[in-house]
Amino acid sequence: NFRCRSAFKLLEIDDKFGLFQAGYSVVDCGAAPGAWSQVAVQRVNSTGTDPDSPRGTLIGIDLLNIPPLDGAHFLSNHDVMDPATHAKLQELLPGGQAHVILSDMAPNASGFRDMDHERIITMCFSLIDLAGKILQPRGSLLCKYWDGILTHQLQEKLSRLFGSVRSLKPDASRKDSAERFFLARMHKK
Ligand code: SAM
Repeated sequence: NFRCRSAFKLLEIDDKFGLFQAGYSVVDCGAAPGAWSQVAVQRVNSTGTDPDSPRGTLIGIDLLNIPPLDGAHFLSNHDVMDPATHAKLQELLPGGQAHVILSDMAPNASGFRDMDHERIITMCFSLIDLAGKILQPRGSLLCKYWDGILTHQLQEKLSRLFGSVRSLKPDASRKDSAERFFLARMHKK
């Protein structure tokens, strides 16, 4: 039982692209209410449910409260864009490094499409700063964006920093929404 339907987008992406492995360290940005974290906890074995596989780590962050979840370490009432949060992540992650950064973060929609687009793209650029601090060499970043005029700038920046960048629209994502995801892999560091 997932906390919300967004879980199916992440399941679909992981089934197709193999984002997770048992033992991985994952940071889930904009994690509330916690459905993506539920998926990641299972797939990195952060509860140790599979005793024969390495045990991973899942850290979730949100401005809102995130109800507790076995195998997850949540930073509720934290801003992903705040450098103090970045410092906390460096302390909590094994070796200060993550294999995967996930972001399903979105600003509260104003209803003005261009403004919402600009704000979510700004969030994605801030995730790139975070990746520079905590993402392992060859690590992956999956981030949600709303399509618009700045998309290509974000894509260009990702392409400089990662060996492979693709834009995804999961089947589980509503067709009438501008929501898409960048999957950037093989972080160059
Ligand atoms: N992936 C989640 C799940 O499956 O349960 C749903 C995430 S929801 C679509 C987007 C979340 O991003 C909201 O809970 C919102 O509070 C959070 N958010 C937006 N801006 C944020 C920020 N700067 N720092 C942390 N969280 C943020």
